[in-house]
Amino acid sequence: SYDEFYVKSVIRTLPDWPEPGVMFRDITPIFKEPKALRMVADAFIQRYMDADVSHIACIDARGFLIASIMAYQMQKPLVLVRKKGKLPGETIHEEYKLEYGTSAVEMQKDAVAAGDRVLVFDDLIATGGTILAACTLIKKLGAEVVECAALIDLPDLNGSMRIQDAGFPVYTMLAYE
Ligand code: 5GP
Repeated sequence: SYDEFYVKSVIRTLPDWPEPGVMFRDITPIFKEPKALRMVADAFIQRYMDADVSHIACIDARGFLIASIMAYQMQKPLVLVRKKGKLPGETIHEEYKLEYGTSAVEMQKDAVAAGDRVLVFDDLIATGGTILAACTLIKKLGAEVVECAALIDLPDLNGSMRIQDAGFPVYTMLAYE
């Protein structure tokens, strides 16, 4: 069963990466530790298995890794939210502010449609900008966001609060102050 202490012990903190002052929460050791990956994926699957969700939208790139396990087990369609410029065909994109400059996420126009009920998944919520931009795209395509889920929340950055204030429920499994 899910053991938060164990999962936190597998996540690695890298100070001053990618720039000075940032404490980067590195989840790559979870993928090297089959027991931890199974524990995390199973906990998310258990939460959403019987939820009224039609699609899982996963965010570039670590979001893909856990969400694809969920989609496989839940037998739900998986759609990708990618950094702008990566997806072929007709797409829409949404820009959002970073500390310095902007970034943009993109979806294929036929990824989701009216009537779809979408679970949004990423590895971590910092300022919330990435997930909020993903939610905006999903709404623009006519679908509903059921919940935004992430493995890790950094509550000091207020991202999960911002997402909730915009009207999208948020669920995170772990928090780091
Ligand atoms: P936000 O848009 O909420 O500010 O940033 C979240 C996005 O940046 C996520 O896609 C996440 O992968 C990445 N990110 C930001 N900080 C960290 C971190 O400390 N660890 C990891 N693994 N990803 C981060």
